[in-house]
Amino acid sequence: MPKNAEIIAVGSELLTPQRIDTNSLTITHHLNAIGVEVVAKHVIGDDRTRLSDTIRLALERSEIIILSGGLGPTEDDVTRDAVAAALGRKLAIDLQQELILRAKFEQIRRPMAAINLRQAHLIEGAEPLPNPNGSAPGQYIELDGRAVALLPGPPHELKPMLENELLRRLRKLLPGEVIKTRSFRLTGIGESDLDTLIAPVYTKYDNPVTTVLSSPGDLSVHLRARAATEADADELLHEVGDPIAELLGVKVYTEDPDESLEAVVGRLLKQQGATVATAESCTGGLIAYRLTEIAGSSDYFVAGYVTYSEAEKREVLGVPGELIESHTAVSEPVAAAMAEGARRRGGATYGLSVTGYAGPSGGTEQDPVGTVYTGIATTEGTRVLRVRYGMGRTRIRTLAAQFALDLLRRTLMGSYFHRPHM
Ligand code: AMP
Ligand code: MG
Repeated sequence: MPKNAEIIAVGSELLTPQRIDTNSLTITHHLNAIGVEVVAKHVIGDDRTRLSDTIRLALERSEIIILSGGLGPTEDDVTRDAVAAALGRKLAIDLQQELILRAKFEQIRRPMAAINLRQAHLIEGAEPLPNPNGSAPGQYIELDGRAVALLPGPPHELKPMLENELLRRLRKLLPGEVIKTRSFRLTGIGESDLDTLIAPVYTKYDNPVTTVLSSPGDLSVHLRARAATEADADELLHEVGDPIAELLGVKVYTEDPDESLEAVVGRLLKQQGATVATAESCTGGLIAYRLTEIAGSSDYFVAGYVTYSEAEKREVLGVPGELIESHTAVSEPVAAAMAEGARRRGGATYGLSVTGYAGPSGGTEQDPVGTVYTGIATTEGTRVLRVRYGMGRTRIRTLAAQFALDLLRRTLMGSYFHRPHM
């Protein structure tokens, strides 16, 4: 039987508009990696009764309860008390923890106030979890196959304690299962179209669990398989992942969950010994920014020209003035001339250009706000694609930069394509 977990973030500040509970995200990430599902999260203020009620409720329905925060020395740090009350166990000072605590204060040459001794209190039967980055130890309690853990609130104390102390204790509680994952990162399709496309495949399976994540112009599909052996898990990932990969085709730019689109573009340029120069108007340098986020991009990124005015499009990129006059700066011929100009001026293998209306004002009858022309100049000629994005300036710019990078990627892969949907 897989185990379920609940997370309880403790702290009245987490109920204000100024602070957010981020610890539960860290905890969930690590629990998922060992095959534990988080079925509920709670945020509770510094209130002993409300907290012990929540702990009791969580213990009734879940096997793993992880609390964060409320382990400080003051009156409002109630987590130890509340867990002891919920479990009906005593809370008592632990001599060894007292010595460790006193040594920590000595080390920083500060006198220890009497209230600090609360941090040396352990719940009956609890194992202390060392905290090299703070004063309060964590606590770990096992009760007939279930576990309760108390972790400190500050993220820089919680994270190492979770990774170095708690996870290996939890792993011992779990059945001998293997968890393996497979991810696809993709662009050039909207979230609902993506789901329509792949749902017929993945909804047939509970295992692997499939999740789709999306941000503007960038999506990912994650599969998480549990099995008795690594080979079985791999087989499940193939069984579901291969048909998904087939359906998505070249839209997938990587299967590495940590590899960005600009990293993929950089990798391909490097492999091919090719270089790129960019000519940006409405994206204002976003493409150049993303390309140069990658360490080692000087190997293939030559220059980024942000030519916002018509005069600079002419001066820097050599776009003929008549072209702008007869077609406007946001047009197919101007996008082509910009890409060619960047390629020529930078002496690059590829010239990549963007010109469009990011809005909210501007645009024309045929080319309303959101219309963007993306050009790519190569040794074999120049192509321009016209796409219309909605809605809002930031989103239009983000999508236009994403599309331009993907156009370069697809060109590098020798894959010709038409209008995308984002
Ligand atoms: P505490 O252990 O309750 O004294 O918390 C100390 C500090 O840790 C708080 O002031 C917050 O800045 C931080 N903190 C506590 N809980 C969380 C949480 N769930 N997520 C992120 N930060 C937290
Ligand atoms: Mg607190």
